[in-house]
Amino acid sequence: MYTNHFAYWPERLSRTLTVPETTLFDNLLFTSKQYPEKVAIYYYGQSYTYKKLLQEVEALAGYMEQTCHVAKGDKILLFMQNSPQFLISFFAILRLRAVVVPINPMSITKDLHFYLEDCQISHAIVGMELYEKVLPLKETTSLKNILVTSYASYIHPNHHLEDLPSEVTLPVITLEQDVWWEEALVCNYQASSYHGKSDDLAVIPYTSGTTGLPKGCKHTNRTVQANTVSAYHWMNFTSDTVVLTTLPLYHVTGLVHSALTPIFGGSSMVILTRWDRDVAGKVIETYNCTHWTNISTMLIDFLANPKLSTYDISSLQSIGGGGAPLPEAVGEALFNRTGLRYIEGYGLSETISHTHFNPPHRSKLQCLGIPTFDLDARIIDLHTKEILGPYENGELVVSGPQVFEGYYNRVEENEEAHIQIDGKTFFRTGDIVQMDNEGYYFLVDRLKRMINASGYKVWPTEVESILYNHPAVQQACVVRTPDEKRGETVKAFIIIKETYKGYVTEKEIIEWSKQQMAAYKYPRVIEFIDHFPTTSSGKILWRQLQEQGESSSLNM
Ligand code: AMP
Repeated sequence: MYTNHFAYWPERLSRTLTVPETTLFDNLLFTSKQYPEKVAIYYYGQSYTYKKLLQEVEALAGYMEQTCHVAKGDKILLFMQNSPQFLISFFAILRLRAVVVPINPMSITKDLHFYLEDCQISHAIVGMELYEKVLPLKETTSLKNILVTSYASYIHPNHHLEDLPSEVTLPVITLEQDVWWEEALVCNYQASSYHGKSDDLAVIPYTSGTTGLPKGCKHTNRTVQANTVSAYHWMNFTSDTVVLTTLPLYHVTGLVHSALTPIFGGSSMVILTRWDRDVAGKVIETYNCTHWTNISTMLIDFLANPKLSTYDISSLQSIGGGGAPLPEAVGEALFNRTGLRYIEGYGLSETISHTHFNPPHRSKLQCLGIPTFDLDARIIDLHTKEILGPYENGELVVSGPQVFEGYYNRVEENEEAHIQIDGKTFFRTGDIVQMDNEGYYFLVDRLKRMINASGYKVWPTEVESILYNHPAVQQACVVRTPDEKRGETVKAFIIIKETYKGYVTEKEIIEWSKQQMAAYKYPRVIEFIDHFPTTSSGKILWRQLQEQGESSSLNM
């Protein structure tokens, strides 16, 4: 017998949610109508009312439609850091029924080339400090236009809240044939009337899923709306809620929890472009922030701030997050400092953030939580695929309104990622979990070869394929290894070619890797090895190497 909802779960969290058949852009329209003068965004001394936010969205959409000819279904690269411009661009793209492809600003040109080709991206909206990474792609891909914005003035590394925005020095960059976003806004073009549908494709976040190279997850307005409404109810949002937005908006958790949900609820957001624990403490006090979704590394840093007691953070009512486990001791430290229990959640890009959350009034530490509204979650045996009960380890599979429409242009991977149970299609998460007898889920391990470094997901096969470009590398196997700060980090076992032995060092390969891939991906640890353990068919036993690395670093 299997049941998702246990009798003692509160009714508020066990009920069915009706997901409105409206679009994400409709949410902004409705909220702007209801609360036109309310501040939607506080940003380093600037503020945007909902009315102003909508006006800028309309102006940008008008420009993009009239001069760049962006139309329904076009894929648009959104490549910028957290800023009001990120959200204005996001909604302008949806206003035209085009599709947002948000990409990690740490990506390098080579990564972007892949995304642009894979998703046939025609236009890009980028932060000025990222422009040079995108520009060369106009020669090599189908990218036609780049709109460039200058929010970067607010991310000067030495900024302090009180300095801003009075002294702003903009780095000088020259745009080739591209256009400043801000100039586009003043053109006052009007976009044609809006007829968005809930099943329009809306966002394609990238992930590697359970295997291989990055894949785009197709999310419609409906799937995103499902988790927006779900987060709103689960976390008890109201129009009085003030959200501290520190998670990156290109990633599903930041996007849904720290932006789309407050916009749905008519709440305010305080957006930080880069994480800074003092600025965070100060803005919580200044704007009376009530809700904060973060990742464990941010919370650890926040609580370790010797100046923390000088900030009044008593307005906080809800702190939670997901993407990586929160160490128990940090959960306890948070409780001692604030009286709040951390509300940990679990989810994936494929489910546009959470599938599980701890109930706010009864959360457990180091726990993924319970399935959220309308989610059918099962744990299946890794071999027989039979459904398992409490305290048995198996793969988590899910079916629910937030589950994506599949990977973009990936027939084979879509088949592998799904399984039929009782005539219903479930998405295979690739995570091995266990449920306790109260219905709370816990992460046990991963089936997929993924490294979770402070919430940044690194895919070993991708790193390996880059390492093979080094002339000394004969064979490489990338695994995770424990790391005090990042939780896990990237380690590469490498067999060096005979002719290079003694001529190349681990350090040199780390330095070389830094130039070849985004900062969160390159191996922090390299170990030269003479041969890899393999199966009889020659497949590298990466798990064995990983376990070897984990036990040696635990013994250190
Ligand atoms: P992403 O698609 O980048 O959101 O990554 C999804 C993966 O993050 C999941 O498959 C998990 O392996 C991991 N993850 C998400 N939430 C948690 C959590 N609370 N604890 C541990 N791992 C998590």
